[in-house]
Amino acid sequence: MRGMVTLKSEAEIERMRASGRIVAEVLAAIETQIGPGVTTLELDRLAESIIRGHEGARPAFKGYGGFPASICASVNDEVVHGIPSKSRRLEQGDIVGIDVGVLLDGYHADAARTFGVGQVAEETGKLLAVTRSALEAGIDAAQPGARLGDVSAAIQNLAESAGFSIVRDLVGHGIGQHLHEDPQVPNFGVEGRGLELEPGLVIAIEPMVNVGGAEVRTLQDAWTIVTIDGSLSAHFEHTVAITEGGPDILTRVA
Ligand code: MG
Repeated sequence: MRGMVTLKSEAEIERMRASGRIVAEVLAAIETQIGPGVTTLELDRLAESIIRGHEGARPAFKGYGGFPASICASVNDEVVHGIPSKSRRLEQGDIVGIDVGVLLDGYHADAARTFGVGQVAEETGKLLAVTRSALEAGIDAAQPGARLGDVSAAIQNLAESAGFSIVRDLVGHGIGQHLHEDPQVPNFGVEGRGLELEPGLVIAIEPMVNVGGAEVRTLQDAWTIVTIDGSLSAHFEHTVAITEGGPDILTRVA
């Protein structure tokens, strides 16, 4: 089913790129602050101050469905939607997924990266590298005339061939005037199937990859998603416009 997919004009895509630059600035700043002893609430405060330092910009997540913070900060077995907290202090060897959304001039951008805290174990480093590569493979497959299933399959193949599993209960999404729009962008699927990717389609591609099983559950805070088996999970995301010339990543600094 096609659903309510809206294609964006070049002017709209440029507005989303302006939002995306702020998202990228936040993630770059957070990267410099990640380390043992830092709390996820401190990272949230940093993100909010950078976002609000840009005239007219606001954190897209704050208040979204009642979410209380400007970033999601998801540590170790937390997959996504972790709530920043002054009692969550990062430790050597942890990983933390930071997800940031910005609304500026009526248009959203959304991106995430997972960072290692100090030195991480070898398998942990592999999880981060594979999840990042899975995002890159998905973006490379997001060519005009390709199908959504090509993106999904590229991500799935990369993660599963490395021995990891893809979270299926959460998916990427269209993005624009709303943070979450159609179409859904699953991280698993079949090549050649699904919506044709037309220039003007803008999607947030966001693989979530687990070391162990794919199954997840929601904690009692009603937000935090964790792996059922307690295994580590990583998350990387970019907001990507499909253009005549190929995929165009909007959540970049330059
Ligand atoms: Mg997203």
